Amino acid sequence: MPTIDLVQQSHQKIFDYLANHRLPTPCLVMDLEEVGRNFQALRSAFPQSHIYYAVKANPAQQLLNLLVSLDARFDAASIPEIQACLESGAKPHQISFGNTIKKAKDIAIAYELGIRLFAFDSLQELEKLSRFAPGAQVYCRLLMECSGAEWPLSRKFGCEIEMAKDLLICSLNMGLQPYGISFHVGSQQMDVSQWDRAIGSTAQLFQELLAAGIELQMVNMGGGFPGQYRSAVPAVTSYAEAIQASLDRHFGDSQPITMLEPGRSLVADAGVINTEVVLISQKSYTEDRRWVFLDIGKFSGLVETMDEAIKYRIRTPWDGQGYGPVILAGPTCDSADILYDQSDYRLPLNLQPGDQVQILSTGAYTSTYSSVGFNGFAPLAVYCI
Ligand SMILES: *Cc1c(COP(=O)(O)O)cnc(C)c1O
Repeated sequence: MPTIDLVQQSHQKIFDYLANHRLPTPCLVMDLEEVGRNFQALRSAFPQSHIYYAVKANPAQQLLNLLVSLDARFDAASIPEIQACLESGAKPHQISFGNTIKKAKDIAIAYELGIRLFAFDSLQELEKLSRFAPGAQVYCRLLMECSGAEWPLSRKFGCEIEMAKDLLICSLNMGLQPYGISFHVGSQQMDVSQWDRAIGSTAQLFQELLAAGIELQMVNMGGGFPGQYRSAVPAVTSYAEAIQASLDRHFGDSQPITMLEPGRSLVADAGVINTEVVLISQKSYTEDRRWVFLDIGKFSGLVETMDEAIKYRIRTPWDGQGYGPVILAGPTCDSADILYDQSDYRLPLNLQPGDQVQILSTGAYTSTYSSVGFNGFAPLAVYCI
């Protein structure tokens, strides 16, 4: 299990960079070497799987360039994401159009660009695919519960197994190639056993379809691998062992082709947001909790603090000295712009306005979630080093 110290160490390059460059705050600094290391670690843990980076986690062009150079593949959700991958040098056959909700026009453009691998979870989507992406490989996403995940991706995506079976049979009759099954067990999934049930259902579907004359080939096991936030997380090798054991148990000797779609685990720990304390105040003479306002908030990239789901670690110039409880909030004139109120955050009592504090492991789902200028605050600047 990676200790928190190890991850701190891996941030050292960014801390040094911040110390030597006076970048305006707030900004996100990405350590590309760390992204490379994370990718290689995942690849060696899952040597049989094709790794499709989920572009939405962080689409910085330099980062995509790096992943192309490492022979990664890409899970894209829109035409601009597909184009960003192609511009970085990815080949169309390395890109999966993994969104189950696509405009017909975008399917046609993707097909024109050479994309031949598409996700779906409904009959209507299949009808669009059969018309605008004839002959393409398609995979059906299964509905998941996502328990154990800190950022669930449930309900909205996927269909139930009986429907998946019918749709895959339909897809053949519609001139498409039924290629496989996908599922996502939820993002920041802390429980390595959560893949087992999905792999079991998938194996059963493979058999039922075989009986119907359709030989599926591929299982897309999604993302869900964690970043290092406040609680310790299992090592990537623990996920790999549990998942491989499930594949062995449910598929035996006829192992399918497998895809993974990691987003968070490749980039989260490779990023640090540098921010400045704007104000520290109290609302009464009796309350001992301080309000600490940063120059970044929910609208400038920290959307995953919604319901305090993702709990980032914070570094200050006064770490190790006396701490007191705080409510941490962003700078905008919206009362939803509170980061942590219920999660027992404590910061040093010496903290002052003007101090720079770092929000750790923020390389995933921050720059892309940043609004274009709510209240006049600029989108989050990104530096790749
Ligand atoms: C967002 C997303 C991912 C990435 O998930 P992580 O939990 O960040 O690894 C993978 N696949 C699909 C379809 C997604 O929407």
